[in-house]
Amino acid sequence: MPGPPALGAQCYTSRVISVEEALGRILSRISVLGDERVPLLQALHRVLGESVSARLDIPPWPSSSMDGYAVRSADTAGATSEDPARLRVSGRVPAGGVTERPLRAAEAVRIFTGAPLPDDADAVIPQEDVTVERDTVVIGRPVARGACVRPRGEDMRTGDTVLERGRALGPAEIGLLATLGHQPVRVVRRPVVGILSTGDELVDLPGALGPGQIPNSNTYSLMAQVIEAGAEPVSLGIARDTLEEIVERLSWGLGCDLLISSAGVSVGEHDLVKAALGRLGAEQHLWLVNMRPGKPITFATLPGGRQAALPAFGLPGNPVSAMVTFELFVRPALLRMGGHARLARPVVQARALGAIVNHGGRRGYLRVRLEPTDGGVGARLTGEQGSGILRSMVAADGLAIVPGDTTIAPGEPVEVMLLRDG
Ligand code: AMP
Ligand code: MG
Repeated sequence: MPGPPALGAQCYTSRVISVEEALGRILSRISVLGDERVPLLQALHRVLGESVSARLDIPPWPSSSMDGYAVRSADTAGATSEDPARLRVSGRVPAGGVTERPLRAAEAVRIFTGAPLPDDADAVIPQEDVTVERDTVVIGRPVARGACVRPRGEDMRTGDTVLERGRALGPAEIGLLATLGHQPVRVVRRPVVGILSTGDELVDLPGALGPGQIPNSNTYSLMAQVIEAGAEPVSLGIARDTLEEIVERLSWGLGCDLLISSAGVSVGEHDLVKAALGRLGAEQHLWLVNMRPGKPITFATLPGGRQAALPAFGLPGNPVSAMVTFELFVRPALLRMGGHARLARPVVQARALGAIVNHGGRRGYLRVRLEPTDGGVGARLTGEQGSGILRSMVAADGLAIVPGDTTIAPGEPVEVMLLRDG
């Protein structure tokens, strides 16, 4: 078999390196993108590019937390059912309303949840705790100062830093920014990712398959993974197995933040991705990683792009290998570009349900389903582990991480990297 295509002045190591070393080489070359301002909802799942402090007290005034009567607590001191306080109802304030004047002694105001307390009122008694006689409310117990009142600033005070730069924004953060009227929001840009499939056998959707042809599925699974990683995919289509076409289509993506190709990265004479990257002036940082699926994978940086160097991944062509190598290497890179601090998927400790066998010396990432067990969680292989078998990926909750030449017997512990975040 011929060796890998010559790369001219390029040099790359053909030594097989560990997953950790590969990830280290990748992440050391990835930096956080710049920021942009976006409408509030578009900030969801993105990372805040500024610290946000409260511009006002929230709530901005004391308000009622119940439907009832706002009172001066002193007017109810010593009230009992035999000798109740009788307060004249001098007004009514619904949510969104205001009272014209302060509450006077021996007065109450009909108030509703969310309405501002009248000046000089300091407590609310719920309506179910009083009786009403014409324009008088009869209160048979003392009302504590502050009862059923949300004090001004109980949530935030003016000047408090409420969200730090670098914070990933979920629904609660979006609500908090809305409370402060903070829109648009400054967030880290979403990486734009060019995705190229390579191979003479590939046909894009919808396409009739001729002899020897298969549908291009990697573009779709990779675009979906890119979206899940908070980035924006751009398809560069399918390149035939010629150096010129791969170079041309990759060059269409030079304005992206990151490039991914799949297939054509092995040692066959039709495997031209590394040579194509070399033509584009790439510096290659890795090639063989000690893992299965997905041993041949390349990571290079190209001159140009929106940053000083454009990161480019050449992933393997087999559909599961492409997805697994994306998970292990591309996803963390995209998360870092998007400003996220947490790059790794959660890893859980499970017990093997049935033997989990990893033949061969490479570290295995085996597709498993997780099942609750008495003492915790169990992991069971989803079926055949061939790198083209997408259905066992579909059935997987995670990837069991198994050292080379190792059998994990039923009941023994196994680490599982989840394929989702929680
Ligand atoms: P290669 O790395 O080019 O030798 O491809 C490895 C295997 O992955 C071959 O069986 C290819 O047909 C298959 N393959 C390559 N690209 C794709 C793709 N975009 N979609 C589905 N299968 C692919
Ligand atoms: Mg091929």
